[in-house]
Amino acid sequence: MWIGIDDTDSKKGMCTTYLVGDILKELWKYGLELTRYPRLIRLNPNIPWKTRGNGAVALEVGVPDKKLEKIGWMQKNIYRCTPRSTVIDFEKLKEGLQRVIQEQAELDAEGTNPGVVITQIKPPYSVYTKTVKKIVTLKETQAVLDMIGAYTLGYKNKRGLIGATAAVAWRPYIDKTYELLTYGNKSTISTEHVIKMDYCCPSTFDNYDYENRHIQITPNAPGPVIYGVRGDNEKELKKAMRMLHVPDIERWFLFETNQGTDDHLQKTKIDNIHPYESVIVTGYVASKPRAITGGHLIFSFGNTKKIDCACYEPTKNFRSIIRYLCPGDKISVYGGIRKNPFTLNIEKIQIHALVAIHRKVENPLCPRCHRHMKSIGKNNGYRCRRCGIKTGEEKAKIVPIKRQLCPIFYEVPVVARRHLAKPLKRMKNITYQKK
Ligand SMILES: [Zn+2]
Repeated sequence: MWIGIDDTDSKKGMCTTYLVGDILKELWKYGLELTRYPRLIRLNPNIPWKTRGNGAVALEVGVPDKKLEKIGWMQKNIYRCTPRSTVIDFEKLKEGLQRVIQEQAELDAEGTNPGVVITQIKPPYSVYTKTVKKIVTLKETQAVLDMIGAYTLGYKNKRGLIGATAAVAWRPYIDKTYELLTYGNKSTISTEHVIKMDYCCPSTFDNYDYENRHIQITPNAPGPVIYGVRGDNEKELKKAMRMLHVPDIERWFLFETNQGTDDHLQKTKIDNIHPYESVIVTGYVASKPRAITGGHLIFSFGNTKKIDCACYEPTKNFRSIIRYLCPGDKISVYGGIRKNPFTLNIEKIQIHALVAIHRKVENPLCPRCHRHMKSIGKNNGYRCRRCGIKTGEEKAKIVPIKRQLCPIFYEVPVVARRHLAKPLKRMKNITYQKK
């Protein structure tokens, strides 16, 4: 049996993942436990009405059998995965979950619209892919829920049901990562511990931004989360937790996630781009990147059809890479589409080919008097002032300029990374600059 939960948090506090402990405690009353890792699923990051990270939770629960891996801890209770699933009293369970939501969710907060889905049949995988890549309406979700005969709890505008359903529909078909989240009162984490952990746990990612000296594992919004470490190896995440030495952890849970997988991206053509989607498009830089107010960079990009690419101030030093792009460079841009203004916000780029650029260092010499000739005007050639002899543009001394970029991948720094964006460190068979 699957339980999906979404949108219990607000901009000011809470976190949907925090409820996992309370829900598991409730499930114990029915003799139910997790049958696999709890799941934290990030959905379309470009949706304007999302609360913060747009993350939903899915739990597969059943009657305990043989004990498996320890996946979490709360108030002296160890939580484990168990391997078998069974049938129980749905109505009673629904009441129990209702109690948890009413106690814990930020129901009064504007924009918080919790949704809970309880189902024995998993929705099709396509429900997940559509919710992570595009916009899904509540009507579409409701049709899926009716089809699979799910029990639902929808609060306020019930939009949380969309994410809850998509979270249950996710399967780690193509890629997956893990995140170990710890909760409790705010503690300070020492930078040294984070850096040491980052070195000793190579399968983890996005821990620390060395260029901007920023600890990325702690949340930048208020809530019960102390920190979350992401990685490819679940065992190493427990090692990371030990290495961080944070006292007074009230609870922790290890989630299987779609974070850092690029699941939100779709390869497409510029003519086929829609607002709020995330895309991979290949084309040519059409204008020199220019700075606008606020320190953002904008350049035109495409083939016959063009779109403005934006590289915002929070992407920090990534802008110094973008600034080096020249018209004619062939690149692939990975990023999200904003509606107003219609722009592509860059998450990473792959440079396929760089154009050769030249600079004139000396005007041509007059063949008769051997003095420097003067330019007649842009692209009009040169003329000697004394002798009146004319020559073409090509006679000037031109040197190639060394390009500051290479035909490799470049990404925004850790501090600006989106939950779903796959760090270059996780990409197979690519070249990038290791920092
Ligand atoms: Zn001359």
